[in-house]
Amino acid sequence: MIFDVEKTRKDFPILSREIQGNTLTYLDNAASSQKPMEVLEGIKQFESNDYSNVHRGLHTLSVLSTSAYEESRKIVQKFLNAKSSEEIIFTSGGTDSVNLVASSYADENLSQGDEIIITTMEHHANIVPWHFLRERKGVQIKWIDCDRNGNFDINQFEKAISSKTKFIAVTQMSNVFGVSPNIKSIIDLSHSQGIPVLIDGCQGVVHEKVDVQDLDCDFYVFSGHKLYGPNGIGILYAKSKYLEKMRPWRGGGDMIKHVQKENVTYSESPNKFEAGTPNITGAVGLGMAINYFDKKIKEGLFEHELKVSNYLYSQIKTVEGIAVYGEENINSPILSFNVEGQHPHDISTIIDNYGVALRAGRHCCGRLMDLLGINACARASIAMYTNKKDIDNLIEGLDRSISLFK
Ligand code: PMP
Repeated sequence: MIFDVEKTRKDFPILSREIQGNTLTYLDNAASSQKPMEVLEGIKQFESNDYSNVHRGLHTLSVLSTSAYEESRKIVQKFLNAKSSEEIIFTSGGTDSVNLVASSYADENLSQGDEIIITTMEHHANIVPWHFLRERKGVQIKWIDCDRNGNFDINQFEKAISSKTKFIAVTQMSNVFGVSPNIKSIIDLSHSQGIPVLIDGCQGVVHEKVDVQDLDCDFYVFSGHKLYGPNGIGILYAKSKYLEKMRPWRGGGDMIKHVQKENVTYSESPNKFEAGTPNITGAVGLGMAINYFDKKIKEGLFEHELKVSNYLYSQIKTVEGIAVYGEENINSPILSFNVEGQHPHDISTIIDNYGVALRAGRHCCGRLMDLLGINACARASIAMYTNKKDIDNLIEGLDRSISLFK
């Protein structure tokens, strides 16, 4: 089936918005994607008709809200192919999900001198929570460096693992150069040594079909707002064998069985990890976004993205003075680059004048910037609605920006 990008674009009202007199060219999807009408309208309908707090009331609206919230959990379960919906925890985002694992599972199971392995390609969301643990408990962080093209050799992991290694956390897809490490072989290797693995799927889930049972990862995290859903909602998948034993990390309503003067007992997962009123609308909206996204996968979304990625790469190579990072693995939906003699912030500001939204900076990947020997770079990232015209607009904007500095 040939993916109909023009039909898809019509589903996203923001794409017809004007920026500085030009129709928007949105290429900042790795930071946050836009929402289709189906999600925007669905949220409006839910909030206008069925909204109330969840799990608490017996009245009609509370029952409707609870059922929509729990239905969404089942959608996520099916989407990730988790064994049970009890393995799906709603959080406020990918960052929150990693913090939950670090503050609950790792805090309880790791002690001074134990080692955590992470890679140089991680987003700060999958670095800083482990630094917290280093500061709190004296665990050691061991780094696996990729090369300048984002390649890892599985032998590097093999060499780094020791009897002290108790946890491994790896990204499914780099948010800087879109490279995907072979997470399956990392997981298999880690499991052969009895080490649990967390996969940061914030970027990967948007561009690849995920099956957590097939991957056999122990923890998997992602955010709703990069997957055409609302912000302020994220997912932690964890195998139930961990969730059963993990202590809750936030206390409050809805996560307890009994609260007495001298002690407290906790609910089972997932409620145990969802203290207080959750982001109800966010969770319901995420379910809608996943339903929409699933439809688009069946229509040939990933094949479309590959074509657009290849076009992006072939066109950007025509730009004078361009340096593309991770070039060896460049069939990816995220492309980072610099233009000789121009600061990426200037590029981003200038091409905004032509309606092109690009990200510039360090992309919350300070260690990778150091490895690449750069302070910052510009990043173009595509989504299901990106067409060739968007890429042409980007290239035209870059050419104009270059001629301004001549
Ligand atoms: N991991 C990766 C690879 C990311 O790209 C991001 C978001 N840029 C995060 C984690 C954090 O996600 P959030 O900001 O939605 O919590």
